[in-house]
Amino acid sequence: MSDADRRPYLIACTVPVAEYVDEFALTQYVLKHFPQFLTPLERRACAYTTPILSSDDSAKVRTLATKLNDQYGFVPDSDIIAACATDRYAFMDHTRDRILADHPTDVFINRCPECSRIVRTLLAKQCSWCKHKWHTA
Ligand SMILES: [Zn+2]
Repeated sequence: MSDADRRPYLIACTVPVAEYVDEFALTQYVLKHFPQFLTPLERRACAYTTPILSSDDSAKVRTLATKLNDQYGFVPDSDIIAACATDRYAFMDHTRDRILADHPTDVFINRCPECSRIVRTLLAKQCSWCKHKWHTA
């Protein structure tokens, strides 16, 4: 038995882990930092790791679905499934574009002044990509 057979988790990853893709970064940033602009459907379909369905196998997800329905308005599972049917990431990109179009003055995209990449938070003053810092006294 080789080392690779005994310890498959030690196989080197060949996929770049931290590759920056502006469109993807912008989608993640807008969905994370501006959830107040999500419609109930968008919140259920793309604000979480997976779509939140009332009929999910997990009791925790069903509880979350009930909470979201109570707090933001009822969304039928069929609408969520339809929104994500072809490509969930395309729906997320569409949601990002809608938020940017509907709230142009409310959404602040914090970009690094050095490399123009989107930084982690609205208030970040250093870039996790190029390590540039722009703190002022
Ligand atoms: Zn930078």
